[in-house]
Formats: sequence, C-alpha cells, structure tokens
Amino acid sequence: MTLFEKIIAGDVPADIVYEDEWCVAFRDINPQAPTHVLIVPRKVIVNVAHATPDDALRMGKVLLAAGEVARQLGVDETGYRLVFNNGAGAGQTVFHMHCHLLAGRAFSWPPG
Ligand code: 5GP
Repeated sequence: MTLFEKIIAGDVPADIVYEDEWCVAFRDINPQAPTHVLIVPRKVIVNVAHATPDDALRMGKVLLAAGEVARQLGVDETGYRLVFNNGAGAGQTVFHMHCHLLAGRAFSWPPG
C-alpha cells in the first residue's frame, strides 16, 4: 500500500479537509505555504505519466476537487498554485498521484 492509501483507509492519521467518492484531500505534514493540501485519487495512479484513458474522469475529478477545496478554504479569490510533481527528478516522493494546492503566500514564476 502507498502511504496515501493508508491515509485514505484511516490507518495513518491526517487532517482531512475534503473527500468525495473519487478523491481525498488532506493537509501536507510539511507545509510549504500557509495552506498546503494534497488532493489524492482514491485509486492509485503512480503519476500523470502512468495515467491511461481509463483514468480520464478520475484525473478530472482531482482538479474539480482542488477547486472545491480552494473554495472551502477561502483561497479561491486570492489565488492558489496547483502542482503535480511527476517522477523523482521533479521531486515526487510519494508514488501515488497527488495535486499539491498551495496558497497564502507569494509564488515566483518561473517556479524554482
Ligand atoms: P511529493 O514530494 O511526492 O510531490 O509530495 C509528497 C508530499 O507528501 C510531501 O509534500 C510531503 O510533505 C507529504 N507527506 C509525506 N508524508 C506525509 C504524511 O505522513 N502525512 C501527510 N499529511 N503528508 C505527508
């Protein structure tokens, strides 16, 4: 099981802020911004590179959930950044696809 499957199953505690039949969203244990939430599909997809056409709806639901989380946490008006680290070379450490939602501080572009 991936760490995030254990969180989804309730075997590892997490501060869950949103869930629906497709996704679970919880606060990152090592936040990189005042608001830092991970939106995770219930079904394991390793990362975007591993998604198949069968995952199209699931992938879309992750983004819709991110928008809903932003609204619920009140960061939708001020702006937020969504990040998918895709592969170890991009900083991915948990190989269960997740969308980082970061908000509450300034963000540089291009990203560091
Ligand atoms: P990645 O580096 O794979 O893009 O993101 C994995 C994220 O998971 C990191 O930001 C890391 O802080 C977070 N993380 C790692 N272990 C835990 C944990 O046990 N609980 C929570 N809530 N987040 C975790």
